[in-house]
Amino acid sequence: MSTKLYDITDWCRRGDKVQDYPYIGEVDLNVSIRTVIKVRNKYYSPGVVGKNYAGVHPIELNLEPDDEDYTSNVKCPYCGYENVDSWELDDSDDNHECGMCGAIIAYERVVTVEYNSSAKKPPDIVETKWI
Ligand SMILES: [Zn+2]
Repeated sequence: MSTKLYDITDWCRRGDKVQDYPYIGEVDLNVSIRTVIKVRNKYYSPGVVGKNYAGVHPIELNLEPDDEDYTSNVKCPYCGYENVDSWELDDSDDNHECGMCGAIIAYERVVTVEYNSSAKKPPDIVETKWI
């Protein structure tokens, strides 16, 4: 069984037919969602899988990554995918599956408190002289 891979980096811009996206090549396995494919030294994350074809995202993988700290969104240390809907997630999760590569990561929401102040009424003032 083989699968033809198409690059769906710009998914939706060319419609919803995977075969309308740039053809990458054919691999000799059955592709499944959330299982990264390694061909030579390149990695591909399947986003859409059909019979004998798959739409994939070429990704950079770091298998021994450092933490991603104080980022605007939850960011996968392995593939760098940034979840732009992070605000919808729970405050923390020790077993969060990356929406791109399927790796399991842990995250916690860091909340910073800031204040805005504006003038409402100046202080009372009494004027006098030195004795
Ligand atoms: Zn990832």
